[in-house]
Amino acid sequence: MKRVVLVVILATFIAASSFSVALAKPAAPAPKDIDKVVFIHYRAPGKPWWAGPKEPKEKEDEGYKLFRGGVKWAELPVSYAINENVDASARAEITAAFEEWDANTTKELYNNTVGTTDKAGANQNWENTIAWVDTIANSNIIAITTFWFYVNTKELFEFDIEFNANFAWGIDPDGEGTEYELTSAMDIRNIATHEAGHTLVLSDLYQGQYAGMTMYGYSEYGEVKKISLESGDIAGLHKLYGE
Ligand SMILES: [Zn+2]
Repeated sequence: MKRVVLVVILATFIAASSFSVALAKPAAPAPKDIDKVVFIHYRAPGKPWWAGPKEPKEKEDEGYKLFRGGVKWAELPVSYAINENVDASARAEITAAFEEWDANTTKELYNNTVGTTDKAGANQNWENTIAWVDTIANSNIIAITTFWFYVNTKELFEFDIEFNANFAWGIDPDGEGTEYELTSAMDIRNIATHEAGHTLVLSDLYQGQYAGMTMYGYSEYGEVKKISLESGDIAGLHKLYGE
């Protein structure tokens, strides 16, 4: 009787152990499919290059910096929408800012038909939106571009741009010309052209030698030099999307 019990226990043990081994086999960790990245544009007049974030250098010698080797759109053109509260003149400046990138490549980067949206802020909702928001508490932050991409393929799939409504904003009448009339306001097109570069995805440059580039990481009142792309900006654009 004792032996029978022992056999039964042993059989149970073997069955249980093989069962538990099967169960205990660890499931493969879920791949981190999507990543969210935020580019913050600061007002920092005369801020030294070493005050920028410490990031690994990536082709910065050529005047541009890709993100993680080249996160970008897989399909062009990209459609975006501007918030319904943005007036027509500001809307025209933003559209022109995006077209500056489009004009420097044979690819059609952005859809010429720009949408209107009631959305604002950085929310992953499958819509690329641009809006002024009053939720940015830091008074040195001019604008924020947030983007989302698939980690495995480096394929970008959404961006949102937020302009800080707590700043004064304006439009320099002669654009990049020599008359500077916005002494205490941010030029919309100047900042928008920089943020549009983030939507492609080009990273910020912080070294002083790149202060003339559109993707230079700081701006100031009245600045207009980011309106037209410079050699480094164009080189980065071509690296990602071709000439
Ligand atoms: Zn930036």
